[in-house]
Amino acid sequence: MGVTIQKFKRCTDCGGIKLREQDFHRHRGGFRSVCKVCANERARQYREAHPERIRETYRTYREAHRDEINAYQRVQYRLRKKAANCN
Ligand SMILES: [Zn+2]
Repeated sequence: MGVTIQKFKRCTDCGGIKLREQDFHRHRGGFRSVCKVCANERARQYREAHPERIRETYRTYREAHRDEINAYQRVQYRLRKKAANCN
């Protein structure tokens, strides 16, 4: 049936054979070709190599979702205040 074989997947980056469900991120109904460890490592390297790009992405995101972020922060503020009053 090939079921046991399909449980495993080779990472195209480190070449390691890992559990597909556990060690790979899901992506468009399938799985990414690099394992979570390698994906994290790549993300870290990208962040270190392009700090200004990350800031720019975050700034754009913040501007696009300003209302949601404000609403979220208001809720967080209220919760904190509530928690402080309980003490
Ligand atoms: Zn890997």
